[in-house]
Amino acid sequence: MPSMRTKRRFRINYLRLLLMLLCVSMIAYGVILLSSSMYEANRDGSAVSADAASDAETPHNSDGANAAAEENPFASFYYYEKDRQARYENYAANRRNLTPDEVVWRVNAELDRFPYTNIVNVTDFTPPVLLNKYRKLPDGYVPAGLVNTSSGRQMTAETKAAYESLRDAAGVAGHRISAASAYQSIEYQKGVYNKHVMEYGKEAADDFVARAGHSEHHLGTAIDLAGSAGTAEGFAGTKEAEWVAENAWRHGFIVRYTDANRDVTGYMPEPGHITWVGEEAAAIMHEEGIGSLEEYVVKYVRHKP
Ligand SMILES: [Zn+2]
Repeated sequence: MPSMRTKRRFRINYLRLLLMLLCVSMIAYGVILLSSSMYEANRDGSAVSADAASDAETPHNSDGANAAAEENPFASFYYYEKDRQARYENYAANRRNLTPDEVVWRVNAELDRFPYTNIVNVTDFTPPVLLNKYRKLPDGYVPAGLVNTSSGRQMTAETKAAYESLRDAAGVAGHRISAASAYQSIEYQKGVYNKHVMEYGKEAADDFVARAGHSEHHLGTAIDLAGSAGTAEGFAGTKEAEWVAENAWRHGFIVRYTDANRDVTGYMPEPGHITWVGEEAAAIMHEEGIGSLEEYVVKYVRHKP
């Protein structure tokens, strides 16, 4: 009996030892797994950490950069404005078809706001001046140096020179264009807007005419063109309109309200409404494929590349 007892006790102790060893190794393995995953999480959370320098030579660095871009896809643009971060996120969530680039410049241009809210009074009149449903001129504003064209339209001297160059080039190409309207005083704008509201209702009126103070015609740099038919209304869809869309930039003009930028401007396309922005701005917009003055002002006036 005693020998058997000893033998048995020895066997039980051996098994216990084995079980304990197993338990200890499993716990150790678990601790290693946990700490390594915490380390990874910590790395992803702080892309630029103290060990960033040592990471420079390792492939981990690109992982870190990708993680940062995934986390904040807006911060890499030179026109990113940190205090608008929450608005970028909000706008992107509501407008999933937009690229991060579009989200950033649109929010910088206040396009995430409701039209005619948070209106800013423009105080810098250096061309190109951005006017839209968020930006207006002071009521008493009259542009300096308005001149008359031969047909009696008023515009700034620079706009007139550019217009004559455009009109003459159109003539050489066999197209007849003229200025049906140019500078409009605040009283005139009020009349045009009210007439449209009475005729079509406020919502429709806001789709095709600017409220007083928000019109580019107030600047003396915008022109409504007429073609051979002689009226601005008949300009859309003509050969002249097609030529102007292709060539206006060569003379420092942009077609301000197009089909493509409707969502940005908030207006119906108006192929005959051209705005003088200067040759440099017009050329950059043409070369870079920038489709609206809103985008240009964010990327080349408020911020510089
Ligand atoms: Zn116009």
